[in-house]
Amino acid sequence: MKRQVEKAVRRFQMFTHSDKILLPVSGGKDSIALWDILLKLHFKVHALHVQLGISEYSEKSADITKRFSEEKNAKLTIVNINEEYGFNIPLAVEKTKLPACSICGTTKRYVYNKFAQKENMDVIVTGHNMDDLAAQLRHSSSTWDLEGMLATYPVRPGKQGLIKRAKPLVYLTEKETLTYVITQKLPVFLEECPFSQGAWSIVEKQELNRIENKKPGFKYQYLTQFYKKAYPAIYEFEEKKKIKNDIKLKSCKICGAPTVKDYCWFCRTRAKILDIKLETN
Ligand code: SF4
Ligand SMILES: [Zn+2]
Repeated sequence: MKRQVEKAVRRFQMFTHSDKILLPVSGGKDSIALWDILLKLHFKVHALHVQLGISEYSEKSADITKRFSEEKNAKLTIVNINEEYGFNIPLAVEKTKLPACSICGTTKRYVYNKFAQKENMDVIVTGHNMDDLAAQLRHSSSTWDLEGMLATYPVRPGKQGLIKRAKPLVYLTEKETLTYVITQKLPVFLEECPFSQGAWSIVEKQELNRIENKKPGFKYQYLTQFYKKAYPAIYEFEEKKKIKNDIKLKSCKICGAPTVKDYCWFCRTRAKILDIKLETN
């Protein structure tokens, strides 16, 4: 496992031992396995847990991250979105009618980026494994969502207010991270989020596993061949499109985050949830 993480870190030039690494941790098998491996490899890791207010699920997730941090004497910060921003995920879903995972994912990314900037972190490292990335690639390519396909690449450079991101578990499957946390006897939270039912990722993963059972090594080939053969051309195409369309990022009028509109997605969504009227020009 450690070797596979080291290989990914080197192959994609994710970070070095002098970099300050922010690791978002949910308490699930992937983030806990990655936390443990990065500590064992002596990287400078600061973990961040975002409390989402999803009933008992959030409480138990936070407890696991605290337990790991105490057992391993590892740095951990907990951000409670209700205390910081005045809403939780169930309320956000009720008020916006948007899918829970869409609001939750964007909120978490916003919090990670803000924290990483404040603490001068060099890179945000996430626990996406090979199954997550292959499922996302399948899902995005079904509608030729090129940005979504690009987002599966294991490293994304930082730019205009966005911190560099990396996914060192790219060469490891879900089964492998689960085996790791069990054999290493790490505290881990294995319950599913109540909002995860019916998520597209579950359907895509089932389909990928069906193929993998018939063709062992399929997921690895599917991802790595995409990175090698298609990713460079799609990346160039999307960059040229941005230049041609003259897409310039501005700073959000409330929080300063990069955005194409006056207010970033997070501030607009938060305003909707809390019935705040935003000034328009
Ligand atoms: S399953 Fe969806 S709502 Fe639940 S924690 Fe994950 S992203 Fe958030
Ligand atoms: Zn904003």
